Amino acid sequence: MSDLLLVFQLAIELAFSLLAIKAIASSVRQPDRPHGHLALALGSLALLILLAPEVASSQVLTDVGIVLFLLSGYGLIMFRNALVPFDPAARRLITVAIIAAGIVAVAARLPADPTSPHSALQTFALAALLAVWAFCILEPITRFVMSARGRPAVERARLRAMSLGYAALLAVVLIGTIGGSLTPGATLLIDVIALAVVPILYVAFFPPAWLRRIWRQPEEDQLRHALHDLLLYSPDRATLARRALAWAERLVGGEAAFLVDFDGAVLAAHNVTTADAEKIASANDVLRPISNGPAPWRNISGRLTPLFGDEELWRLRQYGTSINAGLDRVAMNERIAALERAKTDFLNIASHELRGPMTVIKGYLTMLDAGALGEVSPKAQSVLPLLISKSDEVNWMIEQMIEASRLEEGRLALKKQRTDIVELTENAIDGVRMLLSGHELKVQTPSTSIDAEVDPDRFQIVVRNLLSNASKYSPAGTDITVDIHRNGEKATVSVIDQGMGIAAEDQSHLFSRFVRIETGGHVKGTGLGLWLSREIARMHGGDLSVDSAVGQGSTFTFTVPLSNHSGRS
Ligand code: ADP
Repeated sequence: MSDLLLVFQLAIELAFSLLAIKAIASSVRQPDRPHGHLALALGSLALLILLAPEVASSQVLTDVGIVLFLLSGYGLIMFRNALVPFDPAARRLITVAIIAAGIVAVAARLPADPTSPHSALQTFALAALLAVWAFCILEPITRFVMSARGRPAVERARLRAMSLGYAALLAVVLIGTIGGSLTPGATLLIDVIALAVVPILYVAFFPPAWLRRIWRQPEEDQLRHALHDLLLYSPDRATLARRALAWAERLVGGEAAFLVDFDGAVLAAHNVTTADAEKIASANDVLRPISNGPAPWRNISGRLTPLFGDEELWRLRQYGTSINAGLDRVAMNERIAALERAKTDFLNIASHELRGPMTVIKGYLTMLDAGALGEVSPKAQSVLPLLISKSDEVNWMIEQMIEASRLEEGRLALKKQRTDIVELTENAIDGVRMLLSGHELKVQTPSTSIDAEVDPDRFQIVVRNLLSNASKYSPAGTDITVDIHRNGEKATVSVIDQGMGIAAEDQSHLFSRFVRIETGGHVKGTGLGLWLSREIARMHGGDLSVDSAVGQGSTFTFTVPLSNHSGRS
């Protein structure tokens, strides 16, 4: 039995020494208060255990033992204080009580053997010593259990493991001290408990990555989804930054968080005022990369300081990288949106400013052409049709620009009425007949009318746009065919040209705003026509599609529903 006890004794000494070495090493790597206090607590406890067999041999060693014992209690309660701060008066009181207990114990020349006869002073000193130490352990046990509630998974598990470790330590010391001379069986039991305390304390203070992963598992999926939503659906940087803070806090178990932009400005702050965040940020150089050194955000006092470990810092760094990328993306989107807005504003202003003068120009040109302003020379007369056709082109562009900016701002409301599509298409053709004069125009109409609920002006815009494109993108002299027919529940207008055609890979983005296909020629345009036309078609519940191949001409097909099952308006 005594051999077994000896083995256990050695194992305990070794285990506590290793724990102390680990604590000291990590306090060197991360030199901050929690790690320092932990190193003090576990270091003095290990020394005490190593010293225990010799303590009885001299009063000096007994006194050293008392000091080590109290130091371990002080380290443990101050570790608690570093995580969940006491108010300063309470902290001072605890320190004074520990020092006083130490002085009384040393002055009373407390015997090393607790079972030897004690004077009244010695009994008091021993009781005070144990009471102070028990307080240093019991108080954190309850505090950690209470603080664990609502914390992130890893932190919650660590706080609970710490409570358990502290409790086991307390049990070992109290039973060992008060239990008097124990039977070998009881001593063995105490030794087994003492040995079991070590892995519990190890896990509590230095949880390995695999264990943290297990603790964290339930939160992983939530984080993934949250991050996905956060990055995809945040409308602007401020919103993204604000939303990002909640998970940043959760990842490391912080109670407050703030996000600093590259220029040092505080983008968002949670549970801390922007002014405080700015102060902390400027005082701690938070823009330097997160390292293993003391983290600046520990300085927020009065709250539970997060239990940082390499793992948390690593995850925070990863999270930060994602948020950074998200912020960049949102910033880019904001810029693009601003540019788009600027384009729309410009379209709006330019088109309205141009419309007035162009109406006057077109009016006078038509009057001149009709002879209403008197005789013009035959030479001047000969160029008037060209001038009128060019002013029509400009007017057409202005009309497209006005409609496009209306659409962009959501102001394009259809004024639908029951109309004959055949007649409407013919009117549209008349409107651009001048533009088509260089081509062979063929119009295929059905024998009966095709009635549909459409906005006549907008319907004509689409047809005119398709005709103007057909003439622009096909050589003079070739055929342009307009085919109007009923197709089941739909009215269809197809515009077929024999022009250059459109490559399959270009056809998908043809209908986007401002998209123009590189044709090599010098055909002018805004890139708005097809986008506007398809939007108008879809607002009617219809569609606009293309069928084309390079060098083989194009067919644009515009459909609208016959009866009143159109969609948006
Ligand atoms: P725009 O004609 O003002 O450039 P559109 O939106 O009407 O703008 O057309 C977008 C692009 O689609 C044009 O730049 C042109 O490259 C191509 N496109 C349109 N219609 C035809 C067509 N009938 N044949 C060949 N290419 C066409």
